[in-house]
Amino acid sequence: MSKRLFNFCAGPAALPEAVLQQAQQELLDWQGKGLSVMEMSHRSDEFVSVAETAEQDLRDLLAIPDNYKVLFLQGGASQQFAQIPLNLLPDGGMADYIDTGIWSAKAIEEASRFGNVNVAASAKGYDYFAIPGQNDWQLSAEAAYVHYTPNETIGGLEFSWIPDTGDTPLIADMSSTILSRPLDVSRYGMIYAGAQKNIGPSGLVVVIIREDLLGRARATCPTMLDYTVAARNASMYNTPPTFAWYLSGLIFQWLKQQGGLDAMQRINDAKQQTLYSAIDTSELYSNPISPVDRSWMNIPFRLADDRLDKPFLAGAEERGLLNLKGHRSVGGMRASIYNAVPQAAVDALVAYMAEFEQQHG
Ligand SMILES: *Cc1c(COP(=O)(O)O)cnc(C)c1O
Repeated sequence: MSKRLFNFCAGPAALPEAVLQQAQQELLDWQGKGLSVMEMSHRSDEFVSVAETAEQDLRDLLAIPDNYKVLFLQGGASQQFAQIPLNLLPDGGMADYIDTGIWSAKAIEEASRFGNVNVAASAKGYDYFAIPGQNDWQLSAEAAYVHYTPNETIGGLEFSWIPDTGDTPLIADMSSTILSRPLDVSRYGMIYAGAQKNIGPSGLVVVIIREDLLGRARATCPTMLDYTVAARNASMYNTPPTFAWYLSGLIFQWLKQQGGLDAMQRINDAKQQTLYSAIDTSELYSNPISPVDRSWMNIPFRLADDRLDKPFLAGAEERGLLNLKGHRSVGGMRASIYNAVPQAAVDALVAYMAEFEQQHG
C-alpha cells in the first residue's frame, strides 16, 4: 500500500491521485494496444489522438477562441522568456514589461538580451507587496507587446484584473495560475504556462497564441523556437514530450469531471479563504501582501519569530504536510495550493497551524 501525503510543493507540484492511478493502470498496456503510451511513435494514430484530445479538452476548459493556436512545447516557461522576443520583438524594437517580482524580473532580464525593454511599471515601490494600478503604468506607444506575470509564484502576488493594453498584444506568464479559474483568453495576444504547477508533469510548456502573431519571428530565430514552425507541425516538428502531453490530457479530463473552471474557482476560492483567514486571525503568522493582490495559488507566510521555522516545518512533516518551506530567496513558509491540492489538505494545514500556535504563541 502506498501512502499519499498532503503536498504543498510550488513545482513540480501535486497531481490528482485519480489521474496518477489511471496512468498507473494504463502504463504497461495503453487501451489494449499492448504497449505503453511512452513507447509509441508520436506520429502514430494512437498518439495523435491522445494529443488532439488533450488540445480539445484544454480548448473546452478555457473556451479558447478558434483564432488561437495551442502549442505543446519544451524548454519550460523559462525558455519562453527568450522565445517571446525572438518571435515577437523586431530587431531594434521595444517591448513593455511589468515587474511584479522574481519571475517577471527573469523575463525582463532575458528579453533585454534581444531588444529594448521598457519596464512600464514595477511593484518595487511597494516592496513587491502590492501591484501598481494601471493608472501608474508608463506604456510606450511603440511597444511590440506588453508582458506581465499574472501570478508571482514566489512572492505570492496575483492580479485580480486583466490589464488593458489597447491594440498592443498582451502576453502573460500564467505558469502558476492557469486553469485555477475561468479566463477570457480573447484579451490576450499570447498566454504561456510551464506545466508542472497547474497543468501536469514537468517537461512541457503550453503556449496559446493568437494567429495574427505568427509569422513574425526574426530571421535568426532557431527553427525549434519559431512558433510558426511549431503551429504548422501541430507541435511535432520534432519528438514532443509524449508522456507529459498524455498526462496533461488526463488532467484536463479530470478538470472537466470536477465541473470545469467555474467549479475550480469555487473550490480554490474556498481554499484560499481558509488559509488567509487562518493567517490573518493569528498572532503568530503573517502574510504581507495587500489583500486585493493576494495569490490564490501560492501563499507565503512568516512566523513572528523565525527561530520557530525549523520546529514548524518538522512538526508539519510529522503530520504529513510536505514542502511548506518558503523559497530560498524569501524564507519563511509557502503553501502552494494548486488545483490538485484538496480543501482537506488546507484544513489539515490550518489545524496544524492553530495547534502549533497554541504551543508556541
Ligand atoms: C515556475 C515558473 C517559471 C519557470 O518555469 P520553468 O518551467 O521551470 O522554466 C516561470 N514563471 C513562473 C510564473 C513560474 O511559476
